[in-house]
Amino acid sequence: MSHTRRVTELAAAQAKVASLLAGADEVCLACHVRPDADALGSMLALAHALRGKRVIASFGDQPFEVPEILRFLPGLGLLSPPRAYPDRPELMITFDVGSIDRLGLLAGPAARAGELVVIDHHASNTGFGTIHLVDPAAAATAILVLDLIDVMGIELTAESALGLYAGLVTDTGSFKFSATTPAVHLVAARLLGTGIDPAAVSQQLWDRAPFSYLGLLSGVLARAILEPAAAGGHGLVWTTVSCADRAAHGLSLDAVEPVIDVVRRTDEAGVAVVLKQSDDGLWQVSARSRGAVDVGRACAALGGGGHRNAAGFTARGGPDEALAQLRPLLDGDS
Ligand code: MN
Repeated sequence: MSHTRRVTELAAAQAKVASLLAGADEVCLACHVRPDADALGSMLALAHALRGKRVIASFGDQPFEVPEILRFLPGLGLLSPPRAYPDRPELMITFDVGSIDRLGLLAGPAARAGELVVIDHHASNTGFGTIHLVDPAAAATAILVLDLIDVMGIELTAESALGLYAGLVTDTGSFKFSATTPAVHLVAARLLGTGIDPAAVSQQLWDRAPFSYLGLLSGVLARAILEPAAAGGHGLVWTTVSCADRAAHGLSLDAVEPVIDVVRRTDEAGVAVVLKQSDDGLWQVSARSRGAVDVGRACAALGGGGHRNAAGFTARGGPDEALAQLRPLLDGDS
């Protein structure tokens, strides 16, 4: 599809969603399970913007817990647990959700919703809604939500802006990733213009960890493996974080999320992988690419998803099995 046609279609869909929202008394919002800042921040931003309507905002995790790192976002009081979610929402909107299974417990209500608006920027989006505000060129779902707030003619508040800013800085890797266009910085400037303190946001999101994290990190990094010939010769570096590792240091799965950001610095590897065991014993695989290898496609082939340079999947077996499945997919790309 041509760029112009995509922009026109997006604008038409935005206008339609704005008019649906204007006429609705109740709106149900949902972001993906184990939300990141783009998912939760975008959803809370629209929840703030829809003040005055009955808004039910949730995500389909059991137990229902906001990741510790995101608890600084304003409006957590606007969240409801999935059991309070209508079985058949009249109007439902999803945020940063690439496929319906990423809604977890809320996949059922989504399938039965009267209108299902999908706001997302994953290239792998499966188009599971009735209306799609999906733009793979957008650096974050937050940008698409800001556009919608503008189309609705609602004034941007500092509360909404903080959620959107958290999403934008997260998905652009603090404006380091390739999707960071001049337009992204203009959006950031506008969000900061509402009074957000960028230093406070980055401190909440990245520049902190309990002391025990250092102990876990030293063990996890010491056993990292470099496979220079893997990933089509671009090189693969990987390591594991087991339940036992986390238990020994008293750390949650969320707390070890940043391990990948150290591992992916490896010069000799075009692809970095961290396999983390969640409390249910399953292995959550995070993959990052420097650009030559499409990890999004590889992870999608294994039932996961994401973007070209950042993606993940849940392994069916252990780490060795997961890597054995992943290696040929990383090879096949280049
Ligand atoms: Mn996102």
